[in-house]
Amino acid sequence: MKYYIGIDLGGMSAKAGLMNEEGEVLCMTRCETSADDTAETTARRLAELALQLLEERELSREEVAAIGVGSPGVINSESGSVVVWSNFHWTNVPLGRLISGYAGLPVYVTNDANAAALGEAKYGSGKGFGDSVMITLGTGVGGGIVFGGKLFEGYRSAGGELGHTVIRRGGRLCTCGRRGCLECYASATALKRETRIAMEKHPESLMWKFTPKLEDVNGKTPFEAARAGDRYGKKIVKEYVEYLGDGVANIVNLLRPQVIILGGGVSNEGEYLISRVRDYVLKHIYASAAYASLEIVRASLGNDAGLYGACAYAMARSAPCRP
Ligand SMILES: [Zn+2]
Repeated sequence: MKYYIGIDLGGMSAKAGLMNEEGEVLCMTRCETSADDTAETTARRLAELALQLLEERELSREEVAAIGVGSPGVINSESGSVVVWSNFHWTNVPLGRLISGYAGLPVYVTNDANAAALGEAKYGSGKGFGDSVMITLGTGVGGGIVFGGKLFEGYRSAGGELGHTVIRRGGRLCTCGRRGCLECYASATALKRETRIAMEKHPESLMWKFTPKLEDVNGKTPFEAARAGDRYGKKIVKEYVEYLGDGVANIVNLLRPQVIILGGGVSNEGEYLISRVRDYVLKHIYASAAYASLEIVRASLGNDAGLYGACAYAMARSAPCRP
């Protein structure tokens, strides 16, 4: 029996888990992370986290095939380095090599959004489907593509940037420099912005009842009001669904996965959101779902998707190549 360790690295904390060949996570542990630490310190702490799991299960290093890491930032998964992670001021940090040096195990690094997509594809809502695309609706819009059960990363792992596809030419300015990216309309940040604008315009809106202070507005505000019948909340939700739906329809037309998995904070609105996105997308895709069935579902692993995915990534990268 071989085991795999997955590490989900974040800006505030890191989680590590031990997985067996059957895909069961046997134990987990976590530690704090800080932008004030050097990359070496962070790598050493992550290696210690991994070794803690072995100690807990009384396993030796030889029983572990590899460590997989999902890291924020731009990742070169070939070399295992973090090309840029602006929050931690990292440039060209050989994260895989550093952790490997401390832990004495092979380490494979991928982007955290890719890891989450792989986790959901293999062990979450995409289980049983070979081809899935995950879209994460958080501060930004991230995502990952898994085809034929394998993560698609693109040349130099620079692909799969689903949030930076334009849905409105000349639209809102994106952090990437382009205008009208999906991220500018379908992120939680965009949803909050539109909610605040509508609230300022319409003091009679029920949104004020749910969130009396503008600074407390979050992604839930327009949904709560819409559910209670507020026309302004309903309008924001409708527009949000259409923006997201256009982005999803583009992805479906381009890749035609069997399942689209929606994750991130906004996806917590559940079927109220997802049924609307589903209706919109099914009306706007090229090949009908009667011909090629298409599921649009909510992610099911929550905050553990990245951890499961990092384990799956270790499993995939350490597998002997088949001819
Ligand atoms: Zn962009």
